[in-house]
Amino acid sequence: MYSRKVPLVLGLEFSGIVTEIGTGVTNVKVGDRVAVEPILYCGHCEFCLRGDYNLCKYTNAGFIGLSDDGGFAEYVVTDVFRVHKLPDNLTLEEGALVEPTAVAIHAVRKSGLRVGQTSAIFGAGPIDWLTNTPCCKKSRCYRNICCRCFP
Ligand SMILES: [Zn+2]
Repeated sequence: MYSRKVPLVLGLEFSGIVTEIGTGVTNVKVGDRVAVEPILYCGHCEFCLRGDYNLCKYTNAGFIGLSDDGGFAEYVVTDVFRVHKLPDNLTLEEGALVEPTAVAIHAVRKSGLRVGQTSAIFGAGPIDWLTNTPCCKKSRCYRNICCRCFP
């Protein structure tokens, strides 16, 4: 379904201001600040139909900016169900962190981390750092280790 190959416009995690909307769009209006959910999915398989679209069996975990054109562009056209209006107290820069922050929070929830436990995060990229924050909060900063191995 999403079999685009390079050259692509990169840009996986991004936000922006709506400049134009299509017919029938009601969840956003021109001028709204939005975050874009980059995951690509079919919307028709059993996983998508039950709301687990991150497990879609037809998109192979593709993302806007990796498997289709992304956000490193002046203008981006995307599906309306991918945009989420940002609250007034979030900047556009913070809006670009919505998706990786959701990944981090989901990882911490799935880990079962409890107060007083030690966490170790292997990697030092943006999601790794974002994962460290909820780990600290959940375990009350008992011992959280974030490490990166260099080749
Ligand atoms: Zn699907």
